[in-house]
Amino acid sequence: MDYDVKGNLRDVLATLPGTARLVAISKYHPAEYIMEAYGEGQRIFGESHERELTAKTGELPDDIEWHFIGHLQTNKVKYIAPYISMIESVDSMRLLREINKHASRHDRVIDVLLELRVAEEETKFGLTPDECRQLLDDGEWRTLDHVRICGLMTMASYVDDEEQIRSEFMEASRLFDEVKARHFADAGWFCERSWGMSHDYRIALECNSTMVRVGTKIFGPRVY
Ligand SMILES: *Cc1c(COP(=O)(O)O)cnc(C)c1O
Repeated sequence: MDYDVKGNLRDVLATLPGTARLVAISKYHPAEYIMEAYGEGQRIFGESHERELTAKTGELPDDIEWHFIGHLQTNKVKYIAPYISMIESVDSMRLLREINKHASRHDRVIDVLLELRVAEEETKFGLTPDECRQLLDDGEWRTLDHVRICGLMTMASYVDDEEQIRSEFMEASRLFDEVKARHFADAGWFCERSWGMSHDYRIALECNSTMVRVGTKIFGPRVY
């Protein structure tokens, strides 16, 4: 173990307010690193590739809550549907339907977040604010009994400019308030704002984040 996972985890947790939870992003890191964090009490981990995740679930404790955070192809949903705790990266009605279908086969309700694209960078996945509004206004999601939309997820641009990052997170935060009022006013479960990564989670926490997704700061640089 050439990285002080336990110490890093403690440092991150010490800066989190009671209103926010940590998703430890373990992609590209081996099971032994995850077990270090697990030993400190961390239970929520995030992965972005189906095959890597499936391999890890086989060798790690059952009480880990796995979050899927990567781009999810519809043909991969069936592999994670039996056990996934939350899919944070839903960016189309088609994917939502597919998750519903496989959740139903396993007699589960899968929690999901809608992934929002607010960053200026072109390459990111996710729904634009207008696409997000449309998906929710359309209302078909209300007929899907095996998925539960719990909030929004987003990534800010990967830049040094704190004001730009802040303005992107605040855009996501305002959209959360808007759709909460319009579609989820009585839905207590619609409460999650997943934003903030290693380099910007402190800013995200100032912009109403309830869930930060931190990888590098805990586990060190990824070896691809
Ligand atoms: C990899 C990843 C993270 C974690 O990034 P770090 O910079 O390592 O903290 C968070 N969110 C998503 C969607 C990711 O793909």
